[in-house]
Amino acid sequence: MSEPWTDSLRAALDERVVLDPDVLASFCRDQAPLAPAGTPAALVRARSADDVVTTLRFANERRIPVVTRAAGTGLAGGANAVDGCIVLSMIGFDRILHIDAATRTAVVEPGVLNGKLAAEAASRGLYYAPDPASRDISTIGGNIATNAGGACCLKYGVTGDHVAALKVVLPDGTLIRTGSITRKNVAGLDLTRLLVGSEGTLAVIVEATLRLLRAPLSASTLVAFFDSIESAAAAIVAMESIADLSLLEVMDRATVTAVENVTRMGLDTSAAALLIAQSDSPTASDIIAQCQALCRAHAAREVHCTDDPEEGKLLLAARRMALPALERLGTTLLDDIAVPKPALPQMVERIQRIADRHGVLIGTFGHAGDGNLHPTIVFRQAEPGSAAAAYAAFDEIVRAAIELNGTITGEHGVGSLKRDYLGAMVGESERALMLRIKAAFDPNGILNPGKAL
Ligand SMILES: Cc1cc2nc3c(=O)[nH]c(=O)nc-3n(C[C@H](O)[C@H](O)[C@H](O)COP(=O)(O)OP(=O)(O)OC[C@H]3O[C@@H](n4cnc5c(N)ncnc54)[C@H](O)[C@@H]3O)c2cc1C
Repeated sequence: MSEPWTDSLRAALDERVVLDPDVLASFCRDQAPLAPAGTPAALVRARSADDVVTTLRFANERRIPVVTRAAGTGLAGGANAVDGCIVLSMIGFDRILHIDAATRTAVVEPGVLNGKLAAEAASRGLYYAPDPASRDISTIGGNIATNAGGACCLKYGVTGDHVAALKVVLPDGTLIRTGSITRKNVAGLDLTRLLVGSEGTLAVIVEATLRLLRAPLSASTLVAFFDSIESAAAAIVAMESIADLSLLEVMDRATVTAVENVTRMGLDTSAAALLIAQSDSPTASDIIAQCQALCRAHAAREVHCTDDPEEGKLLLAARRMALPALERLGTTLLDDIAVPKPALPQMVERIQRIADRHGVLIGTFGHAGDGNLHPTIVFRQAEPGSAAAAYAAFDEIVRAAIELNGTITGEHGVGSLKRDYLGAMVGESERALMLRIKAAFDPNGILNPGKAL
């Protein structure tokens, strides 16, 4: 049944408003299959900051919840609809406004795909560093709202490290600017940093000024296979001593097998773990040779190094296939924990014990150089007890990460999937402060209610 206000919304925003239930159904949830999702009352396809201002003013006056949504590739239920909400889609609000070589900055609308910006920057000899595996399908606005990570974070940092300034609309429709294009800026509280990673709960991003780097040199790559994931984890810890790696990724046997089944690229599926390391420094070959020696010292059964950028890209493409390949095996419950790097061997050992105890398949892959793992529980929902076992394993993995002084989410966000774990992660006083900040931005609580905090 349609809400009484939908005609007025259509009068205000015309063809931007969609009420067709079939279309609405396709805007209900992101890529976290098990996170709760409600049914929206309307969809607004924003094309400009004015559309966002109009939508938020309208919703705030009537206390209608608004869920901002970009490409919907989120993995924590952050963009999932709540019942009776307006879904505010940013996907068509997607122009690259300006790329400036002198200041090495780009000004973009929020719906620009990360990969599109990266390609446009590269065509001018510049580099947009944040590289989530979803870069070709996820947006800059979504990346900022989740503070997305990626493989190159090890050297270049996460999305937030590349955001210079933002234009955002507050829930009452006020448009504000935060940050500055200058390298240095300590004027007042850093609202840009606060908005980065706020998962659509504080304001809607309508424009971002991003920092670009000079294009990196071509990378040298190592791939190493290990007979035990513990030795791979020990090698990862030891690689901390090697300067200037740009990337260090891991996949366990279950993940490698799933990827090999899809790609048929000849990965060794009998190995317990595979590491991929890259360096793009001027002495990349030497750095990769040091990694090779270190992997051998940690009982790697096979190590292959290459200076061929195309071979390196192929190996990274295999790593990017990890999640889609595991998803082909059944329903997935994807985790996203991070621990201090020295605790990685303990964390992988705990994951194995948890898998054995609950009799579930867990494919673990992730950004090993950042201590950020994605243990992915694969199960069959139709099998009795299977979902319960998967949830129990998920719960134990998150709690193990907290015990090891890590975090419940390294890069995907809290969304609705991990909201119940936030209390175990941050203290009561800290959470209360977060809620007061939320209330200062959004006194009527209309933006993405029930998410993240
Ligand atoms: C195959 C695959 C691989 C992935 N790999 C990675 C990875 O390597 N690293 C990583 O960090 N993530 C990864 N992800 C997760 C996901 O791609 C990221 O979280 C991404 O940043 C979400 O962007 P999106 O455009 O899809 O946003 P959505 O999923 O639509 O939204 C994500 C959150 O941002 C909010 N939001 C979106 N736009 C705005 C805006 N303009 N203003 C305010 N709030 C907004 C939404 O409300 C929601 O809370 C992966 C996902 C998939 C499917």
